[in-house]
Amino acid sequence: MKGTMKAQVFYEAEKMKMEEIPIPEVTDIDVLVKVKNCGICGSDISYYYGLSPVGTASGKGPIVLGHEFTGEVVEVGKVPEMLGLFAPGDRVVVNPVQNCNACIPCAKGETHLCENSNVPGVSTDGAFAEYCVSRYTGLFKLPEAVSYAAGAFTEPLACAFNGLRKLNIQPGDFVAVFGPGSMGMMMTQLAKRMGAGRIVLIGAKNDDWRLEQGKKVGADFIFNISEKNSRYYTDNLEKSIRDVNAGRLADRAIVPTSSNAAFEQAVSISGNCGIIVHYGLPNEDDVFKIPALSFHTMDKEIRSAWLAPLSWAQTIRSIENELVKFDSLVTGTYPLEKTEEAIRLLRTDPGQQIKIQIEVSK
Ligand SMILES: [Zn+2]
Ligand SMILES: [Zn+2]
Repeated sequence: MKGTMKAQVFYEAEKMKMEEIPIPEVTDIDVLVKVKNCGICGSDISYYYGLSPVGTASGKGPIVLGHEFTGEVVEVGKVPEMLGLFAPGDRVVVNPVQNCNACIPCAKGETHLCENSNVPGVSTDGAFAEYCVSRYTGLFKLPEAVSYAAGAFTEPLACAFNGLRKLNIQPGDFVAVFGPGSMGMMMTQLAKRMGAGRIVLIGAKNDDWRLEQGKKVGADFIFNISEKNSRYYTDNLEKSIRDVNAGRLADRAIVPTSSNAAFEQAVSISGNCGIIVHYGLPNEDDVFKIPALSFHTMDKEIRSAWLAPLSWAQTIRSIENELVKFDSLVTGTYPLEKTEEAIRLLRTDPGQQIKIQIEVSK
């Protein structure tokens, strides 16, 4: 499609400009998507503030961010057209972690570690724009009943699901979730559906409102570990968990926050044969410190969960079947013009925000 489009172009830390740029070209393996909803991810915030390098060769802009999106197909490349896979008008959701299917990691199912990956919004232009190209292999049709807004939760929910799958929840397990952000809220809901018995959601500074929202979506217990004047405050999380769990520690703990201290605490509040999943992206110099003897003799297991390999089928079906509700998680919907404002709000007032979406078009 010839012509220009509005796009939010990210240049460098705290510099993003709304510009008129050419509509991206569709190669034989691409599909052009007219963007509807695009969620703002924690990683978008990190990129915007220069806390993490973007995925371009130089690690720098200019690049259009935004990778959690849905839209409508407007142009189909030769290969997907020949295969009869997509047609203009299709409602779709895009898996932004697009693998090559031809390298050894791909062949092992480690598609998130593909040696030739393409990631719209991270390594190539993304969806804080009117149009975005995607490789056809990253595209999925959105079920009829799923709105564009709900569909834009597919990518983060797929990551949450991958983390929970690694947590290996057994029916009735007592599960601790550290961090009442959008990830924690989705994990709380999905963990229940995957068999968790009781869930404790744990927050820190400025988290009381979000903890209360977490309770509304299914957390059985909420604790604030850093604000003394919080009514959910505990200065001894281990004891608080034993108090609500028949004297025992947690069976499982997952840490959807980048706080290293939270991860160490997750290990300490996990009991015998506990599994702890490290989930939030750490900062560059973080190092874990874990008491070795209890880790060994209590037979604990630590795993990481990075991205969402082979998780999309289950995730799309989970959304279609309403296993997770998103309405209360969207604390703001902004037009494309206000992308920068929305990103800043997530950083300056995180205590009142869960997920903000950019509604690029209706
Ligand atoms: Zn994301
Ligand atoms: Zn590959």
